[in-house]
Amino acid sequence: MSSLYQGLQESQANLLHRFQKIIQANKLSHAYLFAGGKETFDMALYLTQSIYCEKRIDGLPCGHCRSCKLVAAQAFPDLHVVSPANRVIRTDQIKSLLEQASQSGLESTHQVFIFQDADMMHVNGANALLKSMEEPTGQQHFFFLTKASEKILPTIQSRSQYVYFPDLGQVLVAEFESQGLLKTQAQFLNTLLQGNVRMLDTVGQGWMLEMEVQLAAWLQLFLKGNVKAFPALAALVAQADDRDKQSLFLDILEIQLGQKVEVGKRWILLKDLMEARTTWQANVPLLMSLERFLLKNL
Ligand SMILES: [Zn+2]
Repeated sequence: MSSLYQGLQESQANLLHRFQKIIQANKLSHAYLFAGGKETFDMALYLTQSIYCEKRIDGLPCGHCRSCKLVAAQAFPDLHVVSPANRVIRTDQIKSLLEQASQSGLESTHQVFIFQDADMMHVNGANALLKSMEEPTGQQHFFFLTKASEKILPTIQSRSQYVYFPDLGQVLVAEFESQGLLKTQAQFLNTLLQGNVRMLDTVGQGWMLEMEVQLAAWLQLFLKGNVKAFPALAALVAQADDRDKQSLFLDILEIQLGQKVEVGKRWILLKDLMEARTTWQANVPLLMSLERFLLKNL
């Protein structure tokens, strides 16, 4: 499966499944207004793949064929991605795009337009779009993406289907708090997971919270240059007994360095930690990967 699919599966599973049903029923609308974060762009690309894919599986885009790859790389000739320049999507930008598209069908009879930060579209530009949006041939697809849907011009709003992308981060924080966690704990878990909720099942939040406390204590020891920091780290690493935990271990350490170390030193430590992570990713055991980071900075 494609990485677009995987990313959406992790960040917006409900919406993804809703759209998959729409694709399979061949009921994709011609204009959508997506309100939310960066997943709106991934979803627009995924739906674009569904239009151009050469090897659909169960009616869904394969993610691997030439068209799917070109769409993911924003290099498919009939896909037009437009973003604001100097905080405005200019009218002439839109007009020249439409002209270009009208000589249409480089690869197919369909054209897809994705407007990033569509709330920054100039009103004349939006008006220039209307004719194309109302064309009965239905060969053109429009995705208007925004973080501020209230600022979208009414002409666009009234002709698009509105889809809200929930901010999973806020949902998660609220969920953790409702489970009785402190706000600081809830926010820590949200920062740590970055929407990757799978880890909650495989590792468990108890382990994450406990490791945060232990690594914070360890960091104090380390920053004081205490030689006990070495064996203490070995004991902590031993608690990270699979790849998921080890990955989280590095993440927690990185968050702590970012929060608790003074600016000048922070940069050096983060850089050394990044090297340790690269080493670990090359399948060197975690403690050994962290050795240089420790010895250099202790
Ligand atoms: Zn494909």
